[in-house]
Amino acid sequence: MADLRITVWNEGRHEQKDERVRRVYPDGIGGALAAALREVPAAVLRAARLDDPEQGLSEAALAETDVLVWWSHVAHAEVSDESARRVQNRVLDGMGLIVLHSACESKPFRFLMGTTGRLKWRDAGEREILWIVKPKHPIVQGLDGHFVIEREEMYGEYWDVPEPDELIFISSFAGGEVFRSGCCWTRGAGKIFYFRPGHESYPTYFHPQVRRVLCNAARWAAPVPGAPPAFGNRKTGWL
Ligand code: ZN
Repeated sequence: MADLRITVWNEGRHEQKDERVRRVYPDGIGGALAAALREVPAAVLRAARLDDPEQGLSEAALAETDVLVWWSHVAHAEVSDESARRVQNRVLDGMGLIVLHSACESKPFRFLMGTTGRLKWRDAGEREILWIVKPKHPIVQGLDGHFVIEREEMYGEYWDVPEPDELIFISSFAGGEVFRSGCCWTRGAGKIFYFRPGHESYPTYFHPQVRRVLCNAARWAAPVPGAPPAFGNRKTGWL
């Protein structure tokens, strides 16, 4: 099996500033995500952060990435347009992108979707139930029906995104709201999966079913081998 090169890009700001987040994620949110994704067969993991040179998103780094996993929240605006465009272009070229939780308002995701990604929210440590609405999809392999996260932030509809190509999960929350919490899109040759859970103050990325979804999604989002499509002027006909 060929290596699957996964880059975990974590904004890395909550961990610097908030002792409560450090207690939940001693190795950072990126560290917990990487630990989960090590279960993917043949995975080769690399960590990147906003404070790295070129924001961890250089042409070279992206060229060596098959699947980019992205967590961000408070510093969306610090990601430069140039960095976000590089991510966008690499997705169009075939790189998979897994967008987590509050990264629904990140620049690369907004550039790819063409919408604001805004939603309703409430941080009250509510129970979240994730209902599988696309059984047999590769992203829910090994899961059955639904699973529960005891304490999470609530996200509610309406969420400003284009109609997903495939809807995998709908969440319901103790307060009554619902949310499209697992969605797939393609842009160009790249596959994009948005997965809702993962507020920084809850240990969500240690949850076994959440980890299973992350691993399944990384495999699903892997680039499909094959020649790229040909474009441009054709001076003669095909025959
Ligand atoms: Zn949050």
